[in-house]
Amino acid sequence: MYRNYYPPADWEKIMAFSKEKETPFLVVLLDRVQEKYREFRTHFPAAKIYYAVKANPGVELLAVLRDLGSYFDIASIHELDRMLDLGVTPERLSYGNTIKKAKDIREAYEKGVRLFTSDCEADIRNLAKEAPGSRVFFRLLMDAVTSDSDWPLSRKFGCQPRMAIDLVMLAAHLGLEPYGISFHVGSQQREISAWDAAIAQAHSLFEWLDKAHIRLQAMNMGGGFPADYLVKSNPLSIYAEEINFYVKAYFGDSAPVIYLEPGRGLVGEAGVLVSEVVLISKKSKTDRKRWVYTDVGVFNGLMETIDESIKYPIYTEKTGEEGDVVLAGPTCDSLDILYEDFQYQLPLSLESGDRLYWLSTGAYTTSYSSIEFNGFPPLKTYFL
Ligand SMILES: *Cc1c(COP(=O)(O)O)cnc(C)c1O
Repeated sequence: MYRNYYPPADWEKIMAFSKEKETPFLVVLLDRVQEKYREFRTHFPAAKIYYAVKANPGVELLAVLRDLGSYFDIASIHELDRMLDLGVTPERLSYGNTIKKAKDIREAYEKGVRLFTSDCEADIRNLAKEAPGSRVFFRLLMDAVTSDSDWPLSRKFGCQPRMAIDLVMLAAHLGLEPYGISFHVGSQQREISAWDAAIAQAHSLFEWLDKAHIRLQAMNMGGGFPADYLVKSNPLSIYAEEINFYVKAYFGDSAPVIYLEPGRGLVGEAGVLVSEVVLISKKSKTDRKRWVYTDVGVFNGLMETIDESIKYPIYTEKTGEEGDVVLAGPTCDSLDILYEDFQYQLPLSLESGDRLYWLSTGAYTTSYSSIEFNGFPPLKTYFL
């Protein structure tokens, strides 16, 4: 059985801050984001690190990464404008979303963005027209490995290697600069061998294109680095050691420039979501399982509990004998059940009004929170 109940690091600080605040809200510890960024720097010394803004677009967090010299992966004009407003120059931005309107490509280009990712002919033609001469990453389909990850980004993105080659040729022909191969092995990817398979594929494309006298310069390895949830994964240092080994094994001394786009792995562990138990009920007099309804659910921060994909560690100050619970959110939608199959256990002494602390909630919580489903406001964030 996995153990839920350990207090978050910096417990005193979080407690002192959050005692009087109305739940639910997310606390993001900025010094932990800084630490993680430095860890990425240390373990991938030659890589350019593009933080995937969608994981947590909080302005204070973005400013911290800006000041550390990070680059940023953006997906829309709104994210672009936010970064420009923060004083990040467009040379530090990559428009990594493969799905974009021609007019958005134009606007990004006019605002100075010169690096894009693509995976289909229509988009390449749009890029050639609206962002002439720009650098392009070609994204590989990773359907074989993303299924191992806890939050797969499968099927929807990338194209088969054979097609990537055609796109590179087309892009070169249309005056774009074929810059590199990109992939994403699936978010919360615990299987390090997924990178082995991906790097091998990318490498064979480099070789193919080399024969056609097209020399790519970079390999964008996307995100996928795990955060620490209930199901443990290896530390970043182990991922780095293995991934750096694969890069060296395939490319030898002619390794391309490495790009990384961590989202979850960079900010996930920096967040603690503070919620309150609204009600505890049973479905029959003899029911052994309690239903614990909290004021945070699928629609105001815990979207990634869908299919019970991400299992957050939960901490409560209550102690004593524990029993099975179903955890559910506060809205009038039965999709808003957080964990039913996976048996969380919480103390029998737990009552309405008690707080639950959801650890490792720095990524994909606020950005996934709905605007006003059932009148519940979007999840608030405090940056400490
Ligand atoms: C979402 C996304 C990322 C971040 O993925 P994580 O698994 O959170 O690290 C990186 N790159 C692209 C293109 C993405 O869409």
